[in-house]
Order: sequence, then structure tokens, then C-alpha cells
Amino acid sequence: MRLTRFGSLLGVVLLALVRTPASARNDSSTVSTLEQAERLLETTESGRQVLEAAREGRITWVLGQVSRTEVTATRTVHDEVETVHYDTRVIISGSKSPVFQALDLAHELVHALRPKENPFHPALKPGDYVVRGIEGEGGEAEAIAYECRVGREWIDRSKSRVIPEEDLALVRARCGMVWKAMADGEKWKRSFYYLGQHYRDFLDRLTRLEPGSAEMKRWKERLDPRTPIFSSAMAQKPYPLALLEEYLELTRKICSRSPASESPFSKRCGTLERVK
Ligand SMILES: [Zn+2]
Repeated sequence: MRLTRFGSLLGVVLLALVRTPASARNDSSTVSTLEQAERLLETTESGRQVLEAAREGRITWVLGQVSRTEVTATRTVHDEVETVHYDTRVIISGSKSPVFQALDLAHELVHALRPKENPFHPALKPGDYVVRGIEGEGGEAEAIAYECRVGREWIDRSKSRVIPEEDLALVRARCGMVWKAMADGEKWKRSFYYLGQHYRDFLDRLTRLEPGSAEMKRWKERLDPRTPIFSSAMAQKPYPLALLEEYLELTRKICSRSPASESPFSKRCGTLERVK
């Protein structure tokens, strides 16, 4: 029997923080702030839908420092049969206003509901992990689009005055570019690959992982040295780099428990020697 745990979707780097006591969690005034965020989400159709799906999926959400989704995967091998169990928990930043907590909650619940990807799969490739984390079902593109769909509903119903006008102005500022970019699906996805100062670093690390010439060609078409538009709040890096580091971190964790020579992980663990 072997047990391994990890966090997912920008959660690996956070694993150390999982045990950080979120003092706000036991504070009744901040708990009620999150309830207010839920009520604000309930005023929109898309908010109601995602909350209902999350409740059905028994996903829990609590206040913490930085909004994120944590998935803990536990792998058990018994009589050579592998079972992977997932635990999903959403954390919402306690320092934000209820309106922005509501948007974060919509965003994180989209991640929390995404189909689970087995992080222990021996053939899980870094490039696929990054692309699925951005463009796949429940990935960053969908989560950001969804939170801004909630924002659009608030604005369309602004006469009902559920959200104060000054908060609606902030929602417009946050989502304006998203609504515009989403009109062109291809451009929208590409906007996640703007890497700015991280362009060279990302390309170098990817090259060292030896993805093969066809995949490398696709990456060069996708990556863009322009200033990043979207970044991970937790890693404070553009999503492609944050996801690549997350892949390396979880592979490191798996390999620290399974010697590199041990099948079936030998090939995947071998990739670690080629990158920092
Ligand atoms: Zn996200």
C-alpha cells in the first residue's frame, strides 16, 4: 500500500499553507461575510447553478488568505489494483469584499467541479498538464469566463440594486477586458499564454523537458512575450509557468516516495533531472 497526497490547480505550492491556521475561519464576523458572498451569487442564474452543483458534489468552502482550490489525491495500491481518492476544498480570501469573494467563489467552484485528472498517471506529460489547466474543462479560461458571466448578470440587473454602483464599476473594470477578449474564442485562449519577462525561462524549462519537435513547434506558436494579462494569485506568475511548476512539484512528490528506478514512474521521474 502506498499513500501520496498532493494539491492541484495551483494548490501544490500551497500545500504548506494547508496547515496554516486561517484565524479568520473561526471568527463569526468573517464567516458571515462569506455567507453574504453566497447570497450575492444566489442573485444570478449562473451563480445559483454553480452553487447547486457544488453542494451536490459535497464541495466545501472556507475563508483563508488567498482564494484557491485544493485537491488532495490519495493513491492506494492493494493487490496491484490502484485506487485514487480525491478531496476538494475551496478557500476564499478573507480580505476581499463580499462582491469579490462571490466572484472568486464562482471561479473556484468551476475548478472544484472539473473532472479529476489522475496526477499519478505515469504518462502524464507537463505540456498536457499546462494546456488542460488553462483550456480544459474547468480550467482557468472557463473559470475566469464564468466569474465574469456572474458579473454580467449583476450589471444587466443593476436596476434591482443588489450590488452598489461603486462595486459594479469595479466589476466592469475587472471583467471588461474579459468580455471583449471572449468574443474571439481563439484570441481569448491565446491571451493566457502571454508570459512577458517569464517567456525565456518558460521556453528553456520546456525545452529541457524534451517535448519533441512537433509539440515544441505548437508551444512556440502559442507562447507570447507580451505582458501577461492573467496570472495566478497564489503563485504570482502567469498561468503557464505556475502550472508547469505545479506539475514539477507534484512529480517531485511522487518520485520522492517512489525511487526513480521503480516502474511505472521511472520515465516521469527522469524528467526531473533535466529541469530545476
Ligand atoms: Zn483559477
